[in-house]
Amino acid sequence: MARAAAAISYQLQFQFPVPSSQFPVPSSRFPFPVSRFPFPVSRFPLIYLEPRLTVLSRPAFAEPAHLPVNWLGDSTDGERLAEFAGRLCYMSQRNPANRTTRDYLENIKKQGHGSVLEHANYSVLIEGVSRSLTHELVRHRAGWAYSQLSQRYVDESVADFVMPPAIIGDDTLETAWKAQVESAQKSYVTLVEELMQRYSWVADKVHRRKMAREAARAVLPNATETKIVATGNVRAWRTMLELRSSEGAEMEIRRFALTGLRLMQQEAPAMFSDFEIYVAEDRKEAARLGYHKI
Ligand SMILES: Cc1cc2nc3c(=O)[nH]c(=O)nc-3n(C[C@H](O)[C@H](O)[C@H](O)COP(=O)(O)OP(=O)(O)OC[C@H]3O[C@@H](n4cnc5c(N)ncnc54)[C@H](O)[C@@H]3O)c2cc1C
Repeated sequence: MARAAAAISYQLQFQFPVPSSQFPVPSSRFPFPVSRFPFPVSRFPLIYLEPRLTVLSRPAFAEPAHLPVNWLGDSTDGERLAEFAGRLCYMSQRNPANRTTRDYLENIKKQGHGSVLEHANYSVLIEGVSRSLTHELVRHRAGWAYSQLSQRYVDESVADFVMPPAIIGDDTLETAWKAQVESAQKSYVTLVEELMQRYSWVADKVHRRKMAREAARAVLPNATETKIVATGNVRAWRTMLELRSSEGAEMEIRRFALTGLRLMQQEAPAMFSDFEIYVAEDRKEAARLGYHKI
């Protein structure tokens, strides 16, 4: 709560480019008010201090009546789907070993039978992350699908920004960073206006705007906030989370991966229970997992 309050005052301090009276009141859940739409072009950018992840889709398991499984213990649909797929391989629906779903999936991980985890897909809306984070995220190919906000179509004069974790909390660094971000966004606005003039002979206004924005975005910083929908199967989520929550990962994506890991541990505990979150020597959280790349 204290963090949220600090973040709101941060955003209000950002004197750019219109007075706060014209700016939509941020929600108490800063940094997550709807920011880009449908507000007018001139307004304060928001400074994101952490990512926001929202689950858009999760498995809905529909058990076939002719192949019922003797389920034991608590489980979510994603977990049941993976167990069903695993049991089909050996036609062990009767559950002769009397395993709970979570014990069964523990054994799946131990045996390295990770392909059964590929049946469970989770789609997540990711907001409050920087373009540099998504540049790293989309390197994860196998088992993933992505749809990201287009800087060619979307007006980035209303873009928000993500403060790098290493800068947060140091007044001098924060001020210097904000000045650069403000300057870059002003340059973007100027460039778009001038390019719209330069290409005024292009009759199709939508195309002209796209030409202007796609060139002007070159001056926007890596810290520009973006939104992306990412869909991954559980095996792919595990691989990405292992790499990106480790101590060697870049700080923003590491923070994102820890948020994602906690989310996945809620969605499908058995499939992520071997991840251990700990505080590393750099005093930030990291995670390690029991069964590497199953
Ligand atoms: C700490 C860190 C630093 C990094 N630094 C850099 C850097 O400096 N420069 C840079 O370019 N990248 C860098 N990366 C990105 C890295 O090289 C990978 O692109 C990224 O981690 C995705 O990993 P992946 O290819 O294993 O994932 P995915 O593409 O999701 O693949 C998952 C797994 O599937 C298998 N697989 C996928 N595609 C193929 C294929 N075509 N052939 C065979 N097997 C395949 C592999 O087993 C692979 O590990 C860094 C990553 C991390 C975590």
